[in-house]
Amino acid sequence: MNSPVRRAKLSASERHFRSRIAQLASTRWFLRGTLSERAGTCGKPNCRCAQGELHRSLYLVQSQGGKLRQICVPHAWQERVREAVNDYRTLQELIEEVSESEWKRLRDRTRSPFSAA
Ligand SMILES: [Zn+2]
Repeated sequence: MNSPVRRAKLSASERHFRSRIAQLASTRWFLRGTLSERAGTCGKPNCRCAQGELHRSLYLVQSQGGKLRQICVPHAWQERVREAVNDYRTLQELIEEVSESEWKRLRDRTRSPFSAA
C-alpha cells in the first residue's frame, strides 16, 4: 500500500528534482524525439533551390515500436516543438535523478520516505 510522500524526509536535492518535475508536468508540452534539419531541392527547375539556395526543413524523428518515424515540422510550429522536445528530455533527466535516489535507498537498505514504517 502506498503512503503519501513525507517530504520532510527527502533530501534537499530530491525535493528540488520533484518540484521541478511537478512544475514541468503541469505547465509544459512534451515530445519525444530528435530534431533534424535538412536542406534540399523541391524539383522545380525555376525555383531558387535549383540555383543552390536550398529549402530548409525541420523534421522530428522518433523511434516508435522499434521503428523510426519522422514528421515535418511546419515553420510556425518550430519554436513550440523545439521547446516540447527539450522539456521532454529535461523531464526524463529529472525522473532519472529521482530513480537514482531510490536505487541508492534500495542498495543501502535505507528506510524509504514512502513507507509508513
Ligand atoms: Zn525549390
